[in-house]
Amino acid sequence: MYPHDDDQEERLLHQERFIHHPQYCGTCGYNLVKLLMVGKCPECGNEYNARPLEMKNIFLPDHMDLPWQDIAAAGLCLLTGILFIGNSLNPYASGGVFIGIVMILIGVPFVLKTVNKLRIVFRLHGIYRRILKEQEESE
Ligand SMILES: [Zn+2]
Repeated sequence: MYPHDDDQEERLLHQERFIHHPQYCGTCGYNLVKLLMVGKCPECGNEYNARPLEMKNIFLPDHMDLPWQDIAAAGLCLLTGILFIGNSLNPYASGGVFIGIVMILIGVPFVLKTVNKLRIVFRLHGIYRRILKEQEESE
C-alpha cells in the first residue's frame, strides 16, 4: 500500500460525512454547508439527513409548485354541487339536491388536501425567499 492511499481514503470519508454544496434546512432555510450529512439544524433543531438517496427535512425547490390538480378537482366538485343545489331551488326543475350534496362531499377531501399542500408550498416559498436574500447578501 502506498501512503497516499490512506490520505485519499480519508478524504473520501470526509466527503461522505460532510455537506459540500449549499443545502438548506427544510424547516427554516438555514444553509447547512460544511455541516455533517446527518445532524440537527443549528438554528431550529430540525433533524435532517442530506445524504443524496435519503434527503429528509432538506429544502427541495421542486416541491414549490402549486397543487393545480387538487385545486381543479376541489373547484370542479364544489362548483357542480352548488350548481345542482341551486338548480333544485327552481320549482320547475326536478330535484338535484342529492347529487349536489354528494358532489360537495366528494369535493371536501380535495379541499383539505389543497389547503394542506398550499401550507407546505407557502412555507417553502418563505424559505426560498430567505435563501435568495442570503445569497444576495453574500455576493
Ligand atoms: Zn432549521
